[in-house]
Amino acid sequence: MTPEVACEVDRLLAGRTRDIRLNAELVRLFRIRSWPQTSKIIRAWMLWVVVLDILTLAVNAALLPPDIVMAMLPPASILPPAALATATVFLKPRPPWIEGVAVHLGVFLILLSVALVGVNAGGEYYERHLTIMLFVAVTAIIIFPIPLEWSISIAVLALGLYLMLQLQNHDITPGNAVAGALFFASGVVATVVARRTANILAHKTFLLELRDRARLAELTDANARLELLARTDPLTGIANRRWMMETLKKVWSEGVSKSVGPSILMCDIDHFKQLNDSLGHAEGDRCLVKVAGIIQSSLRDDRDQVARYGGEEFLVLLPEADEQDALLVAERIRSRVETALLPNPRSSVGAYVTVSIGLAVLTQGTEVISSETLQRQADEALYMAKAKGRNQALLHAPPSNSG
Ligand code: GH3
Ligand code: MG
Ligand code: MG
Repeated sequence: MTPEVACEVDRLLAGRTRDIRLNAELVRLFRIRSWPQTSKIIRAWMLWVVVLDILTLAVNAALLPPDIVMAMLPPASILPPAALATATVFLKPRPPWIEGVAVHLGVFLILLSVALVGVNAGGEYYERHLTIMLFVAVTAIIIFPIPLEWSISIAVLALGLYLMLQLQNHDITPGNAVAGALFFASGVVATVVARRTANILAHKTFLLELRDRARLAELTDANARLELLARTDPLTGIANRRWMMETLKKVWSEGVSKSVGPSILMCDIDHFKQLNDSLGHAEGDRCLVKVAGIIQSSLRDDRDQVARYGGEEFLVLLPEADEQDALLVAERIRSRVETALLPNPRSSVGAYVTVSIGLAVLTQGTEVISSETLQRQADEALYMAKAKGRNQALLHAPPSNSG
């Protein structure tokens, strides 16, 4: 749905129900939405009149004199093909004008058929069939969910046919014919008004449905944005600590013992406080963004994850990574940060920014340890890397291996 349509929907719903007028685009959307039901109703009605026509003819054939039945037969035979042809048009969606012509022509031929059965039979059947013809028209007006103009055309067709044929009825005076037409016209007009109300209510229901759909889409969108915000570190744009904790929990709950690794890298910028102190906090922020980008670009593929864990500390999770894989990634991060030549004039390591990295790998075949323990091991390794002079990646040595 375009913003213009959404705007128009809101405008129409804000006004009075009886003032609802769909614009061209909304009419098009409404047609698409309501077509299956409309076509089903029209097809069912067409079949209904065919069955009724045949049944009436059969009953008449059994009860009436043969000459009258023979007179009824030709006009009665117009109805089934006209109704079936119209039903066929509504088997699949067609341009509105084709559907309009089909409804008008189909209904006209059906009404004409019913009326002429009476005209041909003559006598008491003349007026009776004209009344039946009006009844048939009224059912079409009431139940066809079609544009109001089409319903009005059907009403005019039916009343016109009634008046025209009654004026030629020798059994009644022209005055009586007009009076009868006026009497029935009041009833037909009432059905057209009912049809108009039904159309407006259908339009309103459709507009409410559109508004619900638009609101749901907005809500889904807002939720997605909120979710993204909740797991993103605002400064660097990479994931935040909260998201990493959830990821670790998920990885461990899915069963880490089944595969190689995972490994955790704790990366910490060396003498970052000095960088802030010498170049300013803003430069410190820029450095954090760059280091985050370098770490991100040093990962193996989409399965490797990095998050800003604290101030100048980054946690990298490498699923299915053994010691060799983890050391390779850690060394890639360390060397790329070093060669990026980001200034840190007061660092004891050199004139540029460096990182120290502590690694811990979940060794297969041994007891599965928790993610918290693995993180603590990576922290311990990081502490050792700092103690050993910084700008290096150090693997945590498990006590079982060393002792
Ligand atoms: P070490 O080599 O031992 O890690 O020393 P260090 O100076 O990097 O570590 P320390 O923990 O002493 O200092 C970290 C500094 O990081 C202190 C804090 O002001 C700074 N910091 C934390 N978050 C931010 C941030 O978002 N932006 C900036 N510019 N600085 C930050
Ligand atoms: Mg540091
Ligand atoms: Mg630190």
